[in-house]
Amino acid sequence: MTKSQDDGENALAEYRAKRDLEKSPEPTGDAPDDKRGKQGGKTYVIQKHDASRLHYDFRLELDGVLKSWAVTKGPSLDPSEKRLAVMVEDHPLDYGDFEGVIPEGYGAGTVMLWDEGTWEPQEDPREGLAEGELKFVLHGKRLKGGFALVRMKGKSSGGKENWLLIKERDDQADEETDPRRKWTDSV
Ligand code: MN
Repeated sequence: MTKSQDDGENALAEYRAKRDLEKSPEPTGDAPDDKRGKQGGKTYVIQKHDASRLHYDFRLELDGVLKSWAVTKGPSLDPSEKRLAVMVEDHPLDYGDFEGVIPEGYGAGTVMLWDEGTWEPQEDPREGLAEGELKFVLHGKRLKGGFALVRMKGKSSGGKENWLLIKERDDQADEETDPRRKWTDSV
């Protein structure tokens, strides 16, 4: 096992602790074929999660897991719209394919794959995560172009880090189109 895979295993402890994976159809993260991901280590997905409160789960593959943020209002293509993105526990790589209905319990509700593709960090992503500013380009089926995740000062009451998801000003920026309304179905 390589170091990054080992880190990935340990990183999933919180994921597994929160769920009853006997009852939930969500991936356990045990599938050996999924350790490397399917996008050359650069998987990007957004899952629309119709839980007690609708949100969009934004996930970027790094070091054998999907780093994850819950974006309450969903992504925006307008650089002036900063969207709250609450960092949540790392998810297993095979979560990137998951669609289904989570039964009563943690995260109950319907998960729909809303976008998928690859991401391309613009700077060292591990430093970016540690320092609270991650810049990257998305090559999704729906979202494309430059984005940034920026950590806000202080922590939310739940002890989770609050970040902002922000579209960069480039030729993919679009003040007119609301991506949540443009794309309502599964990717
Ligand atoms: Mn969620």
